[in-house]
Amino acid sequence: MESYKEKNIIESTLKHLESESVEIAMRINTTVRASMSKKLRWMGFMEIPPVIYSLVTDPLNHPVYDPRFMYDGTEYALTKSMIFHKQILVKKFPKIYTFSPNVRLEVPDKKKTGRHLLEFTQLDLEVRDASREDVMAIAESIIREAVNDVKDINYEDLEKLERKISIPSGQFRRFRYLELKDKYGPDFEAEASSREKYPFWIIDIPLKDREFYDREKEDEPGILRDMDLIYPEGFGEGISGGEREYRLDRILERIKAKDQDPEQFRIFTEIASHGLFPSAGFGIGIERFIRYICGYSRIEYTHPFPKIPGEISL
Ligand code: AMP
Ligand code: MG
Repeated sequence: MESYKEKNIIESTLKHLESESVEIAMRINTTVRASMSKKLRWMGFMEIPPVIYSLVTDPLNHPVYDPRFMYDGTEYALTKSMIFHKQILVKKFPKIYTFSPNVRLEVPDKKKTGRHLLEFTQLDLEVRDASREDVMAIAESIIREAVNDVKDINYEDLEKLERKISIPSGQFRRFRYLELKDKYGPDFEAEASSREKYPFWIIDIPLKDREFYDREKEDEPGILRDMDLIYPEGFGEGISGGEREYRLDRILERIKAKDQDPEQFRIFTEIASHGLFPSAGFGIGIERFIRYICGYSRIEYTHPFPKIPGEISL
């Protein structure tokens, strides 16, 4: 690398690490991770180690550059999410979670959103025989607990940031995807996010706007039993999840309906042919959650070494 570029990276990294915003975010990160682990263990979850690379990973529903590498004649992909590993693992362990590092080489333009990193962590969980509503209740309770713990432990930091944050004590509001779209037009998610005061759910997302693996509603073909959690005040999406399709014939149909190459998922579908269980789960992006708690306009302040779309990073 040219030496002036290297010098810039060194300077910007050291400056970033000096920032009080990063320091506060790291203290809050410590509280959030401990709080979520504590609550989930209390609910009977088992923590499993993350998978960093694999023969199969999440196709996602939007284009990203796909980092792959060869080892000993076999091609592997870096993990974009652990969805398939979670579905396989709930056969053995009924309630699992992991802090999963994901690499998603988003297009450089995504820098504008303030909520995309190329490398981030999601707390990814899955529950055997659970419904969407069951895991929505779990999400609400870990978010409530984490925000309460931050208020108790990091009150000085919240005061410094002049950040007041409150989470409803009951269920979060729920909006159907198509109803919200009808009401606000194509930018409905951003629009609703900036209007709402509390986190809320968007439910019943159509298959065409989603990956193949979520489960279809029996009474509404093409609409899935899935959900996104949206932070208020314009902070945008924080969670995606849903009930999963576990029947092999339906999984194969779905891959076809999304015009994807079944070969890409063959290792997973072969395992599915040995039987999967019904399950539901979700992933909550840790950096986005901390960004919302801190009220930061940009996600990079939630990470000491942020990978910013379109930039060279350490
Ligand atoms: P997904 O299932 O693709 O929606 O990812 C699950 C969660 O991970 C999202 O709801 C976000 O909170 C987080 N996430 C996804 N992509 C990114 C990204 N590029 N940067 C930071 N967080 C992300
Ligand atoms: Mg999502």
